[in-house]
Amino acid sequence: MTDPKIALVTGANRGIGLEVCRQLLAQQYRVILTSRDVEKGQEALDKLKAGATAGDLHFIPLDISNPDSVRQAAETVATRFGRLDTLVNNAAINYDTWQKATEPDLEECRQTLDVNLFGAWRMVQEFLPLLRKSDSGRIVNVSSGSGALQGMSGGTPAYSISKAALNVLTIKLAAETKDDDILVNSVCPGWVRTEMGGSNATRSIPEGARGIVWAATLPDDGPSGGFFRDGKRIDW
Ligand code: NDP
Repeated sequence: MTDPKIALVTGANRGIGLEVCRQLLAQQYRVILTSRDVEKGQEALDKLKAGATAGDLHFIPLDISNPDSVRQAAETVATRFGRLDTLVNNAAINYDTWQKATEPDLEECRQTLDVNLFGAWRMVQEFLPLLRKSDSGRIVNVSSGSGALQGMSGGTPAYSISKAALNVLTIKLAAETKDDDILVNSVCPGWVRTEMGGSNATRSIPEGARGIVWAATLPDDGPSGGFFRDGKRIDW
């Protein structure tokens, strides 16, 4: 029997992250579900275990805004698993009330960038040594069409800027990890009915998660440094 691939998903106690775990388990991955809140993480774990795809599921507490937590999680993965094949940078916040870039709440903007951009960046910094031990490393930065420069307008400046910056990080990382055979991509899940997306969103959670799982499970000759929705390229 071949060794299962190991995937870690951030912000996986609910929403799209939880569903990404479910879909990866269905593909026989060893899945590390992470959550900044231990209780919520355990509840999510129990929920998955109660479902049809119990599989090879593990839990690690992880707050991506806390450098010590990220470091500790990387140490735990190193000790327990020795490597990481797939990192899904899913966790994010969207505090934005409808505000203008000309009249910003800069503290809110700072916090948003700290989670959505620096959180993902911290994760890559700490987990890269473990991804380099994989022979098929994958990094998926869960982004958003609202971070696309084309047609960017007002509304949610903190969130949009954080996702636009995350997309630039994807391009930089893809270029710098080429020789390590790590594929790095940004994925927009579409407008999804989660706590963040709200009940009017057009997509179900499984539909939103599918494109992320596609990028997480790319074959070795798959693309790197791209921005995708539903497995198709979209404009930056
Ligand atoms: P949710 O708000 O439902 O879930 C966000 C998850 O991120 C929660 O588990 C939350 O944990 C976690 N999280 C927030 N901050 C941190 C942190 N500091 N450390 C660890 N975990 C954290 O969002 P979605 O599931 O809708 O979003 C998932 C991804 O998809 C995000 O990157 C989002 O930007 C993106 N996206 C979503 C869209 C949508 O329409 N839903 C559209 C486009 C992109 P907790 O429960 O503790 O708050």
